Amino acid sequence: MAEPLVLKSELLTARGVRHGFSTRIGGVSEGPFATLNVAVGPGDRAEAVEENLRRFTAAIGVERGGLYQTSQVHGADVRVVEPSDDPAAVLHERADALAAFPSSRGPSSRGASSGGPSTAAHLAVGVRTADCVPILVHDQVTGGVAAIHAGWRGVVSGVVSAAVAQLAIRARGSKGLVAAIGPCIGPCCFEIGDEVVGALLGSVPDESIILRDRERPHADLRRAVRLQLGALGVSEVEDVPGCTRCDAERFYSHRRDGARSGRLLAAIAVS
Ligand SMILES: [Zn+2]
Repeated sequence: MAEPLVLKSELLTARGVRHGFSTRIGGVSEGPFATLNVAVGPGDRAEAVEENLRRFTAAIGVERGGLYQTSQVHGADVRVVEPSDDPAAVLHERADALAAFPSSRGPSSRGASSGGPSTAAHLAVGVRTADCVPILVHDQVTGGVAAIHAGWRGVVSGVVSAAVAQLAIRARGSKGLVAAIGPCIGPCCFEIGDEVVGALLGSVPDESIILRDRERPHADLRRAVRLQLGALGVSEVEDVPGCTRCDAERFYSHRRDGARSGRLLAAIAVS
């Protein structure tokens, strides 16, 4: 059985934060979803997706039942999850970022105190992508974490700012925050129309996010997110590289594969 190939951030690893960006390698799905697809929406078998999620969470040291996801709608809502929330119910809530904090009474702190490094984390948040930008954030002050899904609409709607604010409010600032930006569609592949150029520059007024050296403009979403994080005072931002559309071996891409594209997962756990 192939092990899931999981991409990691050095910054988050150095802080001892359990996390990972999935790839399509190491799962059981077939056809267009081969092999580690994490979403049933595009038409994959539910049993295959469940096995893929089980493998991925095991690979990053998180309990399958402690992983929270939402219904993503390219908006700016942030769901702060508690250990008492039902993951199956949260999955139906509309939000494009999730945050979680260590709880003095919740199962996550019990696990941390009684466990040791081999005990799986009980509380993790994740977002699904296939070209959009996945961002994982950790705050050293509170131990809070966030997972953010940001396509161009998310960049424009302010989802990055909204999620960082949830962490910064409790930490009374953003100085303790580090962020890792995962694989997404690169400026090599993200051709956009003039209306999207206008919307992006309206939110991130920096011409360096638009490449105009080809017939049609291309956007650098990763750079746009990096600029947003910098403006919010996030102290360190790391790129976990990869263009989802260029690299069909490792990644799903909606723009390349269309409606039957699989989905990648980026997840981060409260320790
Ligand atoms: Zn590319």
